[in-house]
Amino acid sequence: MPSFSQPFHNHPFTILFEYLCVTTNEAPIRQEFAGFPTAMTLADRVHSDDDMAPLKASYNYSNSIDKMIHFAGKGRDIEDFSAFLTEAKQANIKHLLLLTGDKLKGHQDGSQGRPRTRYLESVNAVMAAKEFGDFHVGVAFNPFKYVEAERDAQYLKLHKKMKAGADFIITQLGYDMQALKQAQVFLKDHHYQQQIFACVMPLSLGRANFMVKNKVAGIVITPHMLNVLAEEKQVGQVEHVYMRCAIQILMCKHLGFAGIHLSSCHQPQDQNRLENYIKQFQHLDLNHLESLWKELWQIQTGNEFIPQLNHYSYPATSTQIIKYHQLHLMHEAIFDSKIACQLGRFVFKSKFWNNSFADQALLKSEWISKHRIVGCESCGQCRLGDTLYICPETCPKGLANGPCGGTTLDRCEFGDRECIHSVKARLAKAVGETEILRENLIPTVPLEIRGSSSWKNWFLATEA
Ligand code: SF4
Repeated sequence: MPSFSQPFHNHPFTILFEYLCVTTNEAPIRQEFAGFPTAMTLADRVHSDDDMAPLKASYNYSNSIDKMIHFAGKGRDIEDFSAFLTEAKQANIKHLLLLTGDKLKGHQDGSQGRPRTRYLESVNAVMAAKEFGDFHVGVAFNPFKYVEAERDAQYLKLHKKMKAGADFIITQLGYDMQALKQAQVFLKDHHYQQQIFACVMPLSLGRANFMVKNKVAGIVITPHMLNVLAEEKQVGQVEHVYMRCAIQILMCKHLGFAGIHLSSCHQPQDQNRLENYIKQFQHLDLNHLESLWKELWQIQTGNEFIPQLNHYSYPATSTQIIKYHQLHLMHEAIFDSKIACQLGRFVFKSKFWNNSFADQALLKSEWISKHRIVGCESCGQCRLGDTLYICPETCPKGLANGPCGGTTLDRCEFGDRECIHSVKARLAKAVGETEILRENLIPTVPLEIRGSSSWKNWFLATEA
């Protein structure tokens, strides 16, 4: 599998073939697929929280195979990631896909005395991997967002991933070709050179129903799609599942994608079916492929892949805007002015704060003054100035740099709130501060400072 190791901008259309993280692999290793070169990808805890680690699974495959290892930040911190990078390097792994990851099945929200589950953000993981060196780093991107704020938030975060050093992009699994085309237009418009791969999967009725029933984060399956699949099943046209997948792969090739990430096609007989259809259709041009795609999905208007919208966009409320301006003024006066910094340094350098009672009183005062207003959880490294005064701790995953891919029409993957990053994106537009959400890479909070006063930490850090 030589292609993925070639200079990336040079490589031919490539199939990133997902293999299962198992101790013994029965499926044959594909060196090429329908004439396209392949590389192996090993996903991180997709089926359960206890799946075998992809790095460990990679040891079951020959060193001569080009492998891409996924690392999801769910339930992990930056120290886990550093250890992973060291091991990956020792194992001669070159290609990484760095994700924040969907909600951990055993997620703890911090109640009942159990520690809250933390998620290492993909942006921070990319920064750490690039600093470590020698890795070819990929990031995930979900272009299948259908309301303004959640879509803006996704693209703003993609800017940050690029700034952090991402080398390539793999999209979320999805079937809306217009959304995939929009992602390409975005890269072109912003002169990004990074290659983009589309994630595809043969979509059967069983899989579609499973994803809808289990609300698999970030994947859009519309009622129209379910109807088409159900009708086909009824009349025995299940081969259409593989025909469509082959057509989607070939459309991606014509559209200039660097390749595709092929998920859930592990059985040799399924691979053969897909391969045969790719060979059967590969002489067709893009127009023909698009007609076939529309025919098989029974597309009339082009909106069949779009979920039912109850809103497309609405502006930030005046309360949110006023709150932003008030907090911004306070922040500038207390934390950014020269006099305040000098005074703060003077106060917090005092030995008085070595007294644990004084230290705890300070922490409590900070929590009382900020918790009700912004949702502060005493992270010790206040990031409000970079997040438009919307506390990252109010995101169940604690993400500061932007959203995960799991929103549904602005709603959080956890289902109990609006995604804070949609709120931020909307507010940023209203107050003319979109640049902050696009440019400011927010470092991860070191474990050792969680639960300490961010005021004290801030002023002491200004000394440097
Ligand atoms: S608030 Fe947004 S980023 Fe955070 S978990 Fe929910 S959907 Fe994901």
